[in-house]
Amino acid sequence: MDIEVLPVACLKDNYAYLLTRPGSDQALVVDACEAEPIERELEARGLSLAGILSTHHHQDHVGGNERLVRKYGAPVFGHASERHRIPCFSNPLEDGESFSIAGFTGRAYHIPAHTRGALAYVLADVCFSGDTLFAAGAGRLFEGSPEELYRALYLVLGRLDPRTRIYTGHEYTERNLEFALFLEPDSVAIQERLAEVRAARARGEPTAMTTLPLERDTNPFLRADRPSIVSRLGLPPGVAPAEVIRRIRELKDQF
Ligand code: ZN
Ligand code: FE
Repeated sequence: MDIEVLPVACLKDNYAYLLTRPGSDQALVVDACEAEPIERELEARGLSLAGILSTHHHQDHVGGNERLVRKYGAPVFGHASERHRIPCFSNPLEDGESFSIAGFTGRAYHIPAHTRGALAYVLADVCFSGDTLFAAGAGRLFEGSPEELYRALYLVLGRLDPRTRIYTGHEYTERNLEFALFLEPDSVAIQERLAEVRAARARGEPTAMTTLPLERDTNPFLRADRPSIVSRLGLPPGVAPAEVIRRIRELKDQF
């Protein structure tokens, strides 16, 4: 299954993602942040909306559900536990459950951490991580623990095929890399990525798409097992990665 992913900039720094397949006029949207920009993109491309995949219930990810459902009658997918928090919720998914709609097939993974009912969606070689994994960062722990974030990042998303293209929920990459560089000032990988991201932003391009190998080189949350980070945080060698994540999170919240 060939999938094309089109980022649609929404609100201040969110992305909705339109998914299309060659030869089909049916699209899916991951996170209908707000209706207008998504409708514009659908209309410009002559596409009809066949489904909404919600990564989590926060308003900046579901604000367009109601209007898009009214207009297109599209079903709304989300984690089963979010049926009362995601507007127009119709298709509950459990951890590891596969789904199929309008020729798109994929699988949902329950990754509680940012919120209790957060889902990642994987379709073919693309993944949508919502506000759990960001490019060079991770989402705040509003309803979850560092242990849950460790599981999400290392044991669920971290086990995807390394070639998977991962699309994240916000344009936070530049600020995240500034924090990463604060933790690892000598990292050439972080310096280089920060320069690339700044150049891309100057051209108005999104930088919220990433891969696991790139994250393992530049994202402190995926480097919690690296001695350089552990010693920089003043933690003892061999400390549990979840403890390192807890400390990185605290520092990032103050950065
Ligand atoms: Zn959120
Ligand atoms: Fe968000």
